[in-house]
This record gives sequence, structure tokens and C-alpha cells, in this order.
Amino acid sequence: MVKDMKTYIDEAESALLHTYNRYQVVLDKGDGVYLYDMNGKRYLDFVAGIAVFALGYGNTEYNDALKEQIDKIIHTSNYYYNIPAIEAAKKLKEASGMARVFFTNSGAEAMEGAIKAARKYAYNKDGKTDHEIIAMNHSFHGRTMGALAVTGNPHYREAFEPLIGNIRFADLNDLESVKAQITDKTCAIIFETVQGEGGIYPATQEFMEGVRAICDEKDILMILDEVQCGMGRTGYMYAWQKYGVKPDIMTTAKALGCGVPVGAFLLNEKAGSSSLAAGDHGTTYGGNPLACAAVCKVFELFEKNHILENVKEVSAYLEKRLDELAKECADIKCRRGAGLMQGLEFYKPVGDIIIKAMDAGLILINAGSHIIRFVPPLVIGKQDVDDMIAILKKCL
Ligand SMILES: *Cc1c(COP(=O)(O)O)cnc(C)c1O
Repeated sequence: MVKDMKTYIDEAESALLHTYNRYQVVLDKGDGVYLYDMNGKRYLDFVAGIAVFALGYGNTEYNDALKEQIDKIIHTSNYYYNIPAIEAAKKLKEASGMARVFFTNSGAEAMEGAIKAARKYAYNKDGKTDHEIIAMNHSFHGRTMGALAVTGNPHYREAFEPLIGNIRFADLNDLESVKAQITDKTCAIIFETVQGEGGIYPATQEFMEGVRAICDEKDILMILDEVQCGMGRTGYMYAWQKYGVKPDIMTTAKALGCGVPVGAFLLNEKAGSSSLAAGDHGTTYGGNPLACAAVCKVFELFEKNHILENVKEVSAYLEKRLDELAKECADIKCRRGAGLMQGLEFYKPVGDIIIKAMDAGLILINAGSHIIRFVPPLVIGKQDVDDMIAILKKCL
């Protein structure tokens, strides 16, 4: 007997740990910027698996590259070299101008590595083990104990304390609040170049430059989390590239493999040559041939399909249409964001709007209770923006 959607959902609820309040839909396949549920209903996708599937669904070249790698070899071990990891690391270095790459399996794990690298860098300097890290309120860096410790949302952290210690919090875009937390033990300042889960807040030019100056003056490592805002999402390969300010360490994940679980933390020459050394860090899967074949193909297709150009062009149009909508609709407070990472803040919770949109064939997601987040595949066109706006309007 063919099972219906309700049956699958019931089975999911009795088998999976209930850590998500899931939308009542079983997604089954994708094509371009559209997703289909198991009944064949079509949805325009403005979430992309949360800023992951940048290339759109069913990209033949991407799929073929993965199939080819599967037939060759899926996994070796980091005790041996493999060609896809070497090629992928070179592409990451080229795209970022950073010096060293460590591949992980997720964004949280990339943050763990970045934190370890920062502590080791400071330890190498003074031999002490009491270093502090400054992170931002309303930030999100992942759910593992280290990443959670620098996540500026007490609600996510509280039940799991004690997390790693010596973390201090400041406010994004408030340089004075950062300065107030600096001590002679500070080893790193961590923030998202564009805060994602916290409500789509881009860092200001002044803040980026100010933090960089503090870090240079005191030999503190500047760590930028580009897990969500990186990989072309803002119209730059990495969001920080717009500012003319370079981090010492950065993390990337989400769209890095476009659906294959992979992340990375990247270090400049200074941090890379005097932090984690042989035996200090490792991973079984991180940077395996399958994941890195995906990374290589993603970079190749970004270039071939002019993804950054498309993001710049379409995001200008998306901003315009969202601004018009904000003007028309009294429930909307404002729009903000960068590139194809946009947020529409409402005066009321947006949960009902998102469910209505889903019924109407549009997939959206929130970032906090009052903000609708728009993080579509980076291959969308202006027509998709128009289609999205038309559906959204009906749901307001
Ligand atoms: C999603 C996210 C993470 C965590 O990535 P996972 O792959 O879910 O572990 C970290 N930082 C930011 C900014 C994110 O958006």
C-alpha cells in the first residue's frame, strides 16, 4: 500500500527525537527553484534548505560530479591525501585569500575548530589557559557545546550549562560595547558578518573596521562566521569582502557543498602557522572525497554560471520589491539585509503568514518570531521574485 503524507508524518513523530516543530509536509524532490512534496504539490522555494542549495535543485553537472566520485571513492581518511580535498582547499584559498583550510562536516564544527585555533594561538604566546573570547548578543554559531557557548541567545544555552567558559558578550555594531569587554586575556572576537538567526543584521563598515583595529592593536584574532552569509549569498564570495577588512579566521558551511554536509574553517598565515599543529585537531569524515568533490563542483559552477553577478542583479530587484511591500503593508516594520539574505520585520509574529504561504505554494522561513527571512537559491531570477511577492501579498 502506498503510504500517504499523514502516515509518514506520524511515523516521523514516533521515530525522530522531537527537536523541531516541523511544518506538516513531506518534501520529496526538487527542480530548479521549486520543491515538490510527496503528493506532487509544487512550492517556490525561498529558503533553499536554509541558505544551502545555492545552485538550485537537480543541477545535472553537480549531480554527475557526485555520481562520478561515488563510483571512484567516497571516503579515505585524513591520514592520506585525496585529490578532491586538495583541489577544494586550493579553490577556497583562492576565493578567500586565506592561507590554510581545515574541512569539517558542519558549520558548528567549523566554529569549534575556529575556537580551538584561537585558544591555541594565545596559548602558544603566553602558555596560559585562561583566555577569553568576545561574542555578540543575538548571534548564532551552532548547537555543539563550543559553538553554543558563543551563541548570544540565553534561551539556547541555559539548560546545557556549564558550556566552555570565559566567554563575554557585546553588541554587534556597537564598538564601545566590544571595547568594554576587552581584557588582557582576550584571545578572539567572534561574530557573523551578517547575523542570520538573530534577525538579519549586517555588520556596519565602522564596526568591521573598528574590530579589526582593536584586534591588530592587541594581537587578538578576528573570527568571522560566514556559515550562512558566505558562499556568494551577499553578492560577494564572502560577505566580509565587501568591507575591505580581512578576518584572521573564518568559517564557512551551508552552501559550501550545496547539500552535501561539509564545512571548513580557514586561517590566515599568522593564525595558521601558530595555532593547531599535528595531533591538535582531527575529524574522520571532514574533507572526504565525496564532500570535497561537491565543494569543487560548487566553486566551478559558481564561476561558470556567474552566480555572484546574478545575486547582485536579482537582489537589487528583491530589495526594491520588498521595500514596496513594506510601504504598502502596515504590519511590516522594515526590511534589511545584504544580497539574497533579506529579512522583513513585522510588528507581529510571522508564523501564521509562513503557514499560509506554504498552503499557497511558497516556502519561507522566519529568523526570530517577527522576521520573515528570504534566503532563496542563488540562481533565482526576477520572475521568481515577482511570483514570490504575488503569493506573499495574498498571505498578508
Ligand atoms: C547554520 C549556522 C551555523 C551552524 O551550522 P550547522 O551546519 O547547522 O552546524 C553556524 N553559524 C551560522 C551563522 C549559521 O547560520
